[in-house]
Amino acid sequence: MKNEKASVIRPDALPHSASRPVVTPLSPSVVYASDTPDMLDQQYEGGLQGYTYSREGHPNADVVAKRLDRMENAPFPGVMTGSGMGAVSAVLLGLTRSGDHVIGGNQLYGRSLRMTSEDLPRLGIATTLVDAGDIDAVRAALRPTTRMILVEVVSNPTLRLADIAGLVDLARESGVLLVVDNTFTTPMAFKALDAGADVVIHSVTKLLAGHSDVMLGYVAARDKALNDRLRVFAVTMGLSASPFDCWLAERGLLTLELRFERAQRTAALLADHLAGLPGVKRVLYPGRADHPDTLRAKALLKGRNCNMVSFELDGARHAANAFTRAAEGLSFAPTLGDVGTTLSHPASSSHRALSPEQRAALGISEGFFRVSVGLEDPDNLCAIFTEAVSAAVAP
Ligand SMILES: *Cc1c(COP(=O)(O)O)cnc(C)c1O
Repeated sequence: MKNEKASVIRPDALPHSASRPVVTPLSPSVVYASDTPDMLDQQYEGGLQGYTYSREGHPNADVVAKRLDRMENAPFPGVMTGSGMGAVSAVLLGLTRSGDHVIGGNQLYGRSLRMTSEDLPRLGIATTLVDAGDIDAVRAALRPTTRMILVEVVSNPTLRLADIAGLVDLARESGVLLVVDNTFTTPMAFKALDAGADVVIHSVTKLLAGHSDVMLGYVAARDKALNDRLRVFAVTMGLSASPFDCWLAERGLLTLELRFERAQRTAALLADHLAGLPGVKRVLYPGRADHPDTLRAKALLKGRNCNMVSFELDGARHAANAFTRAAEGLSFAPTLGDVGTTLSHPASSSHRALSPEQRAALGISEGFFRVSVGLEDPDNLCAIFTEAVSAAVAP
């Protein structure tokens, strides 16, 4: 047999099996061998479906993209990228040209803010950052050269909602692309393309994969030409996703609905619990009647909500330190969407570059925390917060 020759290193076929594996096989192969130059020609021309080189595409990316396409009702196959920022880069850099203008929400994810405010201007793309919940401010920022508006549905960390309906109308009227980063809400609570966005972005790293062991992004456009441009740009720039990460993300997505339901229900309970604790100055949760955007959340999120709760301790940095120290079993870590509850302290992390005055304008004090609620038992979780809050505000 050919394969038994010592000089032949690779097997030329996997063992035959008439039955199929139930679990998607992991395909780490970077290269795919074709039989002949004629065959390779046909693969490149699209006459034959076949992989060639994994930066250009591989089975695990296609399997997980297909799942996300179905969840977002994407009309064309979405593009998997090596991180959420890879997806943001593909959109901001792959769909613009020098001389264009981009409008971004002023509470975008930190690195998206950096890309819009520093990298785009360096490349000759002007940007304006505005409150995505204030449609008049967005309209006022429009220029004849405006190419796109990039927003997140729920902002970080004050959990304000973008005026998606207003933005959809405005983008249509003015011939501007509306790009929605749907990471916080996930397709469980919000379907961006159905709502009228032109492009949807996900950091799959967060709730979608859900276990803090995958770094991955996804982007899909409603228009075929735009979607093709995103794919070609991602492949050219090397934004491609690793097969193993895609394989893990597929596994994570199998339980997304269960995880999301549990986490958002617990988040609602925790928000109410925190609001009743002495030492908690205010609670921000879009599902609560005292949230400034509660009506918009009801209209946009179709009865669902989010797993994020923010709150403010009555106290300065020492109270914040005492809180994380006492919050036993919860990770104080700059991420979200994990199976375990994580705490983020914007003043020392995501918003540390702002001056205290700028933070104050956003309502972010030293006592401000954002909680990404995980899958713990709700009663146990509330008990942990009761203890940690009382430790934080003890004299
Ligand atoms: C985390 C995050 C990103 C970036 O995703 P990475 O996978 O970390 O690169 C983008 N947008 C939002 C809203 C995020 O939370």
